[in-house]
Amino acid sequence: MTARITIVGSLNMDLVIRSPHIPQPGETIIGSDFQTIPGGKGANQAVAAARLGGQVNMVGRVGEDTFADALLDNLKSSGVDTGFVRRDSNSPTGVALIVVDDAGENVIVVASGANMQVTETDVAAAEQAISSSDVLLLQLEVPLRVVTRAAQIARANGVSVILNPAPARKLPSELLQLVDVLVPNESETELLTGIEISSQAEYANAARLLLRTGVNSLVITLGRRGSLLASSSNDLESIAAFKIKPVDTTAAGDAFLGGLAVTIGEGGSLQEAVRMGNAAGALAAMRFGAQTSLPSRSEVLQLIDGEKPESIIGRDT
Ligand code: ADP
Repeated sequence: MTARITIVGSLNMDLVIRSPHIPQPGETIIGSDFQTIPGGKGANQAVAAARLGGQVNMVGRVGEDTFADALLDNLKSSGVDTGFVRRDSNSPTGVALIVVDDAGENVIVVASGANMQVTETDVAAAEQAISSSDVLLLQLEVPLRVVTRAAQIARANGVSVILNPAPARKLPSELLQLVDVLVPNESETELLTGIEISSQAEYANAARLLLRTGVNSLVITLGRRGSLLASSSNDLESIAAFKIKPVDTTAAGDAFLGGLAVTIGEGGSLQEAVRMGNAAGALAAMRFGAQTSLPSRSEVLQLIDGEKPESIIGRDT
């Protein structure tokens, strides 16, 4: 069964420069390799899900500039339906300025532009697409009231709501109660719970706290350490990452979300979905850039098939 997925979220053009080190305030450095790479968490997750076999609708806003043309072309060439992406005549397309140093560390500043102009009316226009989806996939790079409205439509129509609470911020219970699967990374988990995490016990406490907010299930992504899975009926379960040599972890989280959403939309279990997410995240970390690094379904299945199932689940890395 093909997973039907709607994403309400951001589209950004990433302006990326390689630099020997991250500059200090006031410092000028000669860098190299300037690239413009399609990004934005919403669009990244849309492309990730489409490359992994999902039938994907994107809801969002871009400006009327050339970055918008490039972003829309890129989404379409990955098979994403862009019929619900509006062009805003008053705001520029979202842009992220990114500096990546030789150690793979990065600093990022985002000018949200048209992303912050997405309205509840834009969401209402896509109501039919949302309500006929298997999964609604959300992040926090568009206004919170828009995210909440989309989740309300999904919940009212029995559509699974997956929320990636990034960039990190505190969230009202009005939104959390509408979420089926909450997918924070480590720092987002700390911000959402106020718990500074340094041990497995603290993960369990954080998970208990988040499950009490009304989300049905929780998946915490832990970079090269894989992911933790918790739902109301289960204990915390660790699903190990694939062993790879990372080149650039930009969009690893977005690839993970794409894999998770597609598998849930296809009717797979949460464990299967996390394994698919881990494989997609690992492959994205092996390549440079955001949407340039997102893997195909066959690449992901190859990586999963290459591992013995028992070595994927519960492996301690
Ligand atoms: P984010 O990019 O949102 O901070 P993470 O860094 O937790 O998210 O990465 C998301 C997922 O991608 C991880 O759960 C893991 O499955 C995969 N991943 C990320 N970095 C690596 C890595 N170095 N090695 C293997 N898998 C990775």
